[in-house]
Amino acid sequence: DERIAGIASAIRVIPDFPKPGIMFQDITTLLLDPKAFKDTIDLFVERYKDKNISVVAGIEARGFIFGPPIALAIGAKFVPMRKPKKLPGEVISEEYSLEYGTDKIEMHVGAVQAGERALVVDDLIATGGTLSAAIRLLERVGVEVVECACVIELPELKGRERLGDKPLFVLVS
Ligand code: 5GP
Repeated sequence: DERIAGIASAIRVIPDFPKPGIMFQDITTLLLDPKAFKDTIDLFVERYKDKNISVVAGIEARGFIFGPPIALAIGAKFVPMRKPKKLPGEVISEEYSLEYGTDKIEMHVGAVQAGERALVVDDLIATGGTLSAAIRLLERVGVEVVECACVIELPELKGRERLGDKPLFVLVS
């Protein structure tokens, strides 16, 4: 698709952020380019519009940028999956391991119902820890995770393997 090259070139790489040795993929420059941003959303919408998806689950923080326009366009609800202690209502949470230590994501109880079909959205997959926790959280409450969608994949970190047989769709690798 000719739109992919424009999306890829709108993503800025910042070396040594947030610490030395990391090449940070900065999607804020993609948001500054209305055509590239719209192409990004359109590519996801074209893929998911007729898939009977009733939930778009977006992962804090950048899944909150890409998830809602997809949800609106496909007629699904948007469910935020947040860092610990941010959601005000009753939550269920799921832990995942990081290079050093663990982290957690949380979702409101009652936001989704058993039997719903969900798409999980984030900006980027690195090790896959975050997305795999989101999948477990949704599956624990009986939701079927149809696919995960990210703008960017860092393939050398093999995050795709951590998702098991769950399909992952990315625009830029
Ligand atoms: P993972 O859990 O797959 O190791 O890491 C993915 C999470 O970390 C995502 O929520 C993503 O937003 C964030 N992340 C890690 N590295 C980068 C990066 O280079 N750029 C951006 N935009 N996000 C990153």
